[in-house]
Amino acid sequence: MEKIENKVCSIFLDENYRSFTKALNQVNSTTDKNINEIYDRVLVISDENVYKTQLHKFIDSLNAKFVSEYIVPAGEESKCIDTFQKVLEHALKAGLTRKSLIIAVGGGVVGDLSGYVAASYMRGIDFVQVPTTLLAQVDSSIGGKTGINLGTYKNVVGAFYQPKFTFINVSALRTLPDSEFRNGMSEVVKYGFIYDYEFIDYLLENSDDILDKRDSALRYIVKKCAEIKAHVVEVDEKEGGLRKILNFGHTFGHGVEKLCHIAHGEAVSIGMNMAFKLSLKRNLINEEYYNKFLQVCEKFNLPTEFEGPEEHEVLSIMKTDKKNSFSKVNMMLPVEHGKVDLFNDVDDETILEIIKECK
Ligand code: ADP
Ligand code: ZN
Repeated sequence: MEKIENKVCSIFLDENYRSFTKALNQVNSTTDKNINEIYDRVLVISDENVYKTQLHKFIDSLNAKFVSEYIVPAGEESKCIDTFQKVLEHALKAGLTRKSLIIAVGGGVVGDLSGYVAASYMRGIDFVQVPTTLLAQVDSSIGGKTGINLGTYKNVVGAFYQPKFTFINVSALRTLPDSEFRNGMSEVVKYGFIYDYEFIDYLLENSDDILDKRDSALRYIVKKCAEIKAHVVEVDEKEGGLRKILNFGHTFGHGVEKLCHIAHGEAVSIGMNMAFKLSLKRNLINEEYYNKFLQVCEKFNLPTEFEGPEEHEVLSIMKTDKKNSFSKVNMMLPVEHGKVDLFNDVDDETILEIIKECK
């Protein structure tokens, strides 16, 4: 078991669930205690698919007496007020107290929802993230963002609420469908371009091992990304400055994600392509650097173009992004190898041109 720790995050990384209790003991400065000697009750929240593929392995290694499970339907629809209420009611019925623990075992949907339940129940009880998708392992389970959607408005209700720790079992990715794995690869690639350019070379050189989901390769990429995310969050927990680099590809991507109903990761790689094209136009980067981006996308089968909506529709959605301030579109653009910077002086006409080039 490896550990990534700073002032804000504690992340444990392993290739199975067996060391979960050890991690729990470390965080609580205890030794060899059973989970029910630390918490009176445990609620494990998961979704249908994770229930079928992973949950029994996790529950077995948990070895808890007072544990209840709540399984939500798989998919984004579960991140809603209705499910939020149902989980809270279940928690109350199951007798959870302020000394109880909630564990989220699943992807970003389960993690965001459970985190918000934990933040709200009795004004906040302890919470642990056990992410099982690549996207959740490298991104959403780290940093304390929790929340639900309001209709079609994503993540507009929520709280910053840090998990006690995040426990990552990279082998969980073995049962993850390829499309979901690819979805997470977009965010993995993002980390290279915003923070660590050498990582891009690693991805290109080891693409076969990564796509074959070899433990050592999975461990390397997840650890690298989790370290970067943990660092960024430590420096800027509430998204005042540095944390904004994580939005690279997301402002442009937001528009196509909503309009084309594509997966988040697909929208992010298309969004990164738009940002790259804009940087190229502004002479912030050269052609060679851009080609490297295209090469990685091709290796991991990440889309760079979209079909369907008109440019102005995409732009108008981009303008509703909650990360913009004063109606200016804030954009993270690549400026040098492994570095992005924030620009808010890009005019609508240029944005429309770039969107058009990516169709
Ligand atoms: P994300 O993590 O990308 O935000 P979700 O939480 O919706 O998204 O998870 C994506 C899909 O993958 C869901 O259908 C979920 O049930 C499924 N899933 C999550 N983890 C695993 C896993 N380890 N094995 C199989 N399916 C999984
Ligand atoms: Zn994202």
